[in-house]
Amino acid sequence: MKYYDKLIFELSKEGRTGFSLGKNEWTETSDSLPSALRRSEPAVLPQVSEVDVVRHYTNLSQMNFGVDTGFYPLGSCTMKYNPKINEEIASMKGFQGLHPLQPASTVQGALEVYSGIEKALSAITGMSRFTFNPCAGAHGELTGLMIMRQHHLLRGDLKRTKVIVPDSAHGTNPASAAVCGLQVVVVKSNADGLVDVSDLKPLLSDEIAGIMMTNPNTLGLFEKEIKEIASLVHGCGGLLYYDGANMNPLIGVARPGDMGFDIMHLNLHKSFSTPHGGGGPGSGPVGVCEKLANCLPAPVVAPEEDGSLAQAFGKDACGRVSGFMGNFGVILRAYSYILMLGRQNLGFVGRYSVLAANYIKESLKEWYKLPIASVCKHEFVFDGLVNDGAVKDAEGNVVKEGATTLDVAKRLLDYGFHAPTIYFPMLFHQSIMIEPTESESVETLDAFIETMKVIAQEAAQDPDILKGAPHCTPISRPDETTAARNPLLKWQDSVC
Ligand SMILES: *Cc1c(COP(=O)(O)O)cnc(C)c1O
Repeated sequence: MKYYDKLIFELSKEGRTGFSLGKNEWTETSDSLPSALRRSEPAVLPQVSEVDVVRHYTNLSQMNFGVDTGFYPLGSCTMKYNPKINEEIASMKGFQGLHPLQPASTVQGALEVYSGIEKALSAITGMSRFTFNPCAGAHGELTGLMIMRQHHLLRGDLKRTKVIVPDSAHGTNPASAAVCGLQVVVVKSNADGLVDVSDLKPLLSDEIAGIMMTNPNTLGLFEKEIKEIASLVHGCGGLLYYDGANMNPLIGVARPGDMGFDIMHLNLHKSFSTPHGGGGPGSGPVGVCEKLANCLPAPVVAPEEDGSLAQAFGKDACGRVSGFMGNFGVILRAYSYILMLGRQNLGFVGRYSVLAANYIKESLKEWYKLPIASVCKHEFVFDGLVNDGAVKDAEGNVVKEGATTLDVAKRLLDYGFHAPTIYFPMLFHQSIMIEPTESESVETLDAFIETMKVIAQEAAQDPDILKGAPHCTPISRPDETTAARNPLLKWQDSVC
């Protein structure tokens, strides 16, 4: 263990300080604070010098992995590079100092940002109106389903309580439907990994509120039958919901609105460049077609008679989904990203993300099992190693276990790459889901491909190299069960 891997409390030395407080100019003594609010004993704080603090935080920051550190091909998460200009825009004083309860006349600029990005996203997706109130993708799904339910309720159509969800869907889809009080009906995928239209037909009835689809789906495949699916679902009176968390490959190429979708959400913190992971602030704006605009949650931004912008609360709104109008900082980053690229360059986002994914897929398919070989969109799935190094006896019984997907993922960390998404989607047992995004150079992709080949060779020769990995990270494999069930997330005196 390196000296500065110690906890800051372990570096503490009685009486050492790195600061001195100025003289309190406002009150005579701390006695002026109500006694109920005062500590009875001094806080237990580490006593360290300035340089100890600087080294502590600098070293901590280097124990983490982020898009700014290296390649991060985490499937279904779109870990693209986030240009720093977005951070600059989001931290402009005029934006940062706003309060959500300020009178509309003093926040016209901010309201203009909402209506500007609404126009941009409508053009990109083919929807008519957007709400920015939802604070994450799953929150957007719930909002979209509330809009769907509200639409049916307003028409007095009370029987529609079921939502169709494909078996390949992201786990948040059925969860959102359940939270919205709707019953989930599963439609199966066919051998090509697409929604099985013959399985869908018998599920349609006047009890169906709608279908939730992801296109390209979670296997990275484009649902080619989408036009037929749309007309079947519309034919039974249902609506089409589009999970646009992974809109990246379609940006500038195709629009959910043109495919027949009525409601959709986007993850601004994926496709539209906001740093994410670790549960930071997100944004899941929901777009709707013209006929559902009245059902958007309140408030929405609307022009007044004099042309100024205000927050409006319509009587048909499906309700409120957040205290104010979402995470403004994330919305600013996304708007700055869209304006920075402009219409023409946005068209490359989808194309390059698809090219990069297919490049990796084709380069590695002799080393990793490729269950679905067709052209993919922004991501694809391997099903473990072709040769996992398992040793079998003459009868074919395994006498030494081979390397698994988990082992490959852990070994990648030793080579400085973040692991892909593993064991999702659950259609395969050894899923390795790779999404490179458009923001990587071909040299970075080549370096990743070479490393994946080296790991495959290591597995074939001696799977134990992989099973002990990672060997070079600050910690190796934690006990994941204990970490999940009994996490120790803060310093405790007794631990040291
Ligand atoms: C990430 C993701 C979601 C959920 O988004 P959150 O912001 O994590 O709630 C939903 N669907 C798909 C397909 C996703 O990739």
